Amino acid sequence: MSKVALITNISGQDGSYLAELLLKKGYTVHGIIQQGPFLNAEYFSDNLYVNNPDFRIHHYNQSEISNPGRLLALIRPDEIYNLGIPSGTTTHSTLASVGISVLRMLEAIRSQGLEHKTRYYQASSSTLCGLVDGMSVNEMVTFSVPSADAVAQISDFWTVVNYRETFGMYACNGILFNHESPRRSESFVTRKITRGLANITQGLEKCLYLGNLNALRDWGHARDYVKMQWLMLQQDKPEDFVIATGVQFTVRQFVTFAALELGIKLRFVGKGIEEKGVIAAIISPVAAALKVGDVIVTVDPRYIRPAEVSKVSANPSKARRQLGWAPETSLQDLVIEMVLADLATAKEAARL
Ligand code: GDP
Repeated sequence: MSKVALITNISGQDGSYLAELLLKKGYTVHGIIQQGPFLNAEYFSDNLYVNNPDFRIHHYNQSEISNPGRLLALIRPDEIYNLGIPSGTTTHSTLASVGISVLRMLEAIRSQGLEHKTRYYQASSSTLCGLVDGMSVNEMVTFSVPSADAVAQISDFWTVVNYRETFGMYACNGILFNHESPRRSESFVTRKITRGLANITQGLEKCLYLGNLNALRDWGHARDYVKMQWLMLQQDKPEDFVIATGVQFTVRQFVTFAALELGIKLRFVGKGIEEKGVIAAIISPVAAALKVGDVIVTVDPRYIRPAEVSKVSANPSKARRQLGWAPETSLQDLVIEMVLADLATAKEAARL
């Protein structure tokens, strides 16, 4: 009998990669999506999904949100991946209104008598990491609680720990640092950069407007990270894990790398909100329509966050030790993959 998995927010970046991984492993995969536009729908259109009896989509509706037990009774999952809310929706109140809350899901597992069958993965809010500005985060960090939203996020984290300890359930939190891909929403800076620069080379845009270029982030590939989500549920005992590359780059560096992949050598001039990215050399025909001296990156104060967490470093050594975690994709390869995907789309759009 194949294993059965349930993935919430399956149409998001992580959900779509995880679904692929599990289907390839022979799982039957049930996914929950929100009503409305089907994010990343194109990734669910190939042979892996179409007419595949092992892949089923359930639409959110009010009764599922308030009672996931019905769905659990129907499909009796071996594994649940609660990937939370679609990216771009950041507040906990959003989670409360559209997502299946951690508590409801864990209670539903118990009430269906599945607490010794179903293993549970919780995508812990990455915002948690923002609550420890300036620190290196491992699984032992104590978070501070500056806002009601933060309280709610920490509460989810500890709810998972509590169900694990009190009811002996196999439940884990994954604290995943930034993980990107061509499927990342453009509300995140990496995708905004690769799409913006690709569009600029094809004459679809003139300039990329960004906020804090000095912000440091630890960026990995989402495809690598979902493997760790799966692996966390395959251990002898449930534990929480930090997943990150352990290496940080600035937004300015990411822009520089992405531009280089598009044949543009950038030079940054000016400081603070006056800073600009100017073309210093064109080194490939991809960018032939541009010229040296063009300003293609500008800092726009609208994108500078008032309360910025710019320095959080991750310590993924526990995952390295216990899960054998090592990122398979370098930042350079991630940038190349994202740039190539956005360049193909931009070329297509420019042709029309
Ligand atoms: P986050 O780590 O979840 O906040 O991921 P983001 O990709 O949204 O932001 C990463 C970093 O990029 C943050 O420090 C932002 O302040 C910085 N950043 C600079 N310019 C931009 C921008 O135009 N959009 C976004 N989303 N972030 C920007």
